[in-house]
Amino acid sequence: MQTQVKYLIVGQGIVGTFMSYHLDKAGISYLLVNDESLPSASSVASGVMNPVTGRRIVQTWMIETLLPYAVNAYSAIQQKLNIQIIQNAPVILLHPSEQMKDSFEYRMQHDNIYLLRQDPTHWTPYFNAPFGVDGIDDCYWIDINKMLQSWRNYLITYQHYLNAHFDSKEVIFSEKNVRWKNVTAEKIIFCDGIASSQNPYFSSLPFAPNKGEALIVKIPGLPNKNIYKNNISVIPWKDDLFWVGSNYEWTFQDSNPSIAFKEKMIESLDKFLKLPYEIVDHIAGIRPTNTQRRPFVGVHPTQSQLAICNGMGTKGCSLAPYFTAQLLAHLEYGAPVEAEASIVRFASLFTKNP
Ligand SMILES: Cc1cc2nc3c(=O)[nH]c(=O)nc-3n(C[C@H](O)[C@H](O)[C@H](O)COP(=O)(O)OP(=O)(O)OC[C@H]3O[C@@H](n4cnc5c(N)ncnc54)[C@H](O)[C@@H]3O)c2cc1C
Repeated sequence: MQTQVKYLIVGQGIVGTFMSYHLDKAGISYLLVNDESLPSASSVASGVMNPVTGRRIVQTWMIETLLPYAVNAYSAIQQKLNIQIIQNAPVILLHPSEQMKDSFEYRMQHDNIYLLRQDPTHWTPYFNAPFGVDGIDDCYWIDINKMLQSWRNYLITYQHYLNAHFDSKEVIFSEKNVRWKNVTAEKIIFCDGIASSQNPYFSSLPFAPNKGEALIVKIPGLPNKNIYKNNISVIPWKDDLFWVGSNYEWTFQDSNPSIAFKEKMIESLDKFLKLPYEIVDHIAGIRPTNTQRRPFVGVHPTQSQLAICNGMGTKGCSLAPYFTAQLLAHLEYGAPVEAEASIVRFASLFTKNP
């Protein structure tokens, strides 16, 4: 049977989910193809949106626009699917060193927007915190796996979903359309995460894959309405489980969980957590990071039937809702894409490619 749609989306991580959500909301026809046997960064992500970052505790790029947009978008999906996926979860900073405490104090006194004082005695039953306890407000935790699964069920119900492998070699171009197997579309939108770095049409973008791991740990008695940060993060996962991680590996052999990471997490947990815990799982994934730490959004410079929304790096949860909407507005109405995110900045790299 032939299928004709306006957009064919490849991939259902956070990016493909929002791409299809915006199309669905706008009443535009689409089909999403996702290979469930491939790894997905989104399914191992801790799901945190934190407006400040790094050792210097500075605001993240565009956060004043991205965060309110994302909170609204997750709340809207939550309402549409009648599920609970977003919660406000302040970060409890259990300073790992005197230097980090000083950084916090400096920020508190200069352009402090999101920082909070905490009563350390509230947290001493749970953690060793010799360098003090502070906090970050306006952080959110998203139950990514629940969102991915529930949205997939919705797509299946309304016949917008295909669990299959998309092979770029099977694409046939015509002047106005593009065909893949029995699907004809005006455009293909690649939301395929790190797989795009091997995709013949977009592999010249400067992807720099980064591996991250986490332990899933049962910690009975630890309040699950907060995110806890020391050298590592302890983040609510589901029920009485917590996500504990992570690392940022630029060179790695494979995408599998490693013994070295597990041992390092156990050492850190033993040092700062006072409660008993039990490890129930160990997960790993590859972040679609890049050398510029900015998304890749736009239409292929020489193949106008192909578009991409990718390169979300370590911040897919806050970037994906906004940049998928921006790509759609660009495709439908020619609205501009944020200059720092637009793939136009790499146009010269594409000349050698198909
Ligand atoms: C350990 C870890 C922790 C993280 N924590 C956070 C966090 O707390 N907050 C945050 O904002 N970000 C976090 N991230 C980053 C976040 O996971 C990514 O930015 C985001 O998930 C990228 O989403 P994506 O949709 O681009 O890619 P993916 O989630 O990888 O999705 C790509 C999809 O494309 C499909 N696909 C690929 N190739 C094909 C093909 N040929 N045919 C069909 N389907 C295909 C795959 O099956 C997959 O479902 C974390 C990442 C890791 C690894």
